[in-house]
Amino acid sequence: MRIDLHTHSSASDGTDTPAALVREAKAAGLDVVALTDHDATSGWAEAQEAADEVGITLVPGLEISTKLHHRGVHLLAYLPDPTYAPLVEVLGRILEGRSSRTPAIVAALRAHGIDLTENDVHREAGGSVAAGRPHVADALVRRGVVADRTEAFATLLSPGQPGYVNRYAPQLEEMIPIVVAAGGVPVIAHPWGRRGGTVLTEEVLAGLRGIGLAGIEVDHQDHPPELRERLRAIAADLDLLVTGSSDHHGLGKVDHDLGVNTTDPEEYERLVSLARR
Ligand SMILES: [Zn+2]
Ligand SMILES: [Zn+2]
Repeated sequence: MRIDLHTHSSASDGTDTPAALVREAKAAGLDVVALTDHDATSGWAEAQEAADEVGITLVPGLEISTKLHHRGVHLLAYLPDPTYAPLVEVLGRILEGRSSRTPAIVAALRAHGIDLTENDVHREAGGSVAAGRPHVADALVRRGVVADRTEAFATLLSPGQPGYVNRYAPQLEEMIPIVVAAGGVPVIAHPWGRRGGTVLTEEVLAGLRGIGLAGIEVDHQDHPPELRERLRAIAADLDLLVTGSSDHHGLGKVDHDLGVNTTDPEEYERLVSLARR
């Protein structure tokens, strides 16, 4: 049984529609695939319909943008009730923060004397709903303000600089209990990946286990073999589930092909048994 528990569709920043993603998962020889779009459950219905059609098990989930000690931590939430009010409320705030961020960045840059419009940014985003800082950077390059994306981030778009605007994200410690109360199973995505840094020590993970954390994603392309082994040992110590996944984004991310990492069937069974649905 081949199980991939972390993928993205066009409901967030993947390039495949939910239905196309599910069909590709089937074609890639997977038996189980989880759809885990960023802060969104809007792809679930279409994905479920396609899964029923082609005969593959779909695990509805999402990847929630949270914060721990000012660092971004991604929290995977499997099988939560998508109508649970506190969950709906947090997701609404996250999405609202994302869509109001780009106009706020443009306004901040204009106040700094840089001639840039929201249209410039949307042109770079090519109509994607997820217009964000990389697209602002591209617009600045096209305007000749900076030479490339790197310079845009180094001089204008990072914390402490004129074009930086903070974005709402719930605290990880507040989000885990909400996922549990929604009947879902919380698993930290790529805990030692490029974004996570070193905030997620064994001690911190033990504390999070105490408030309901169920598992950690160990087998992920961001983790080289030695980190996977250390994380596996920590999971064994703390009795946390171990998952493995592709974090597939379609054409949006290279080296993340469907099924490139998979989850052990026993771990998957444990995960499903923890969900209350
Ligand atoms: Zn992530
Ligand atoms: Zn992801």
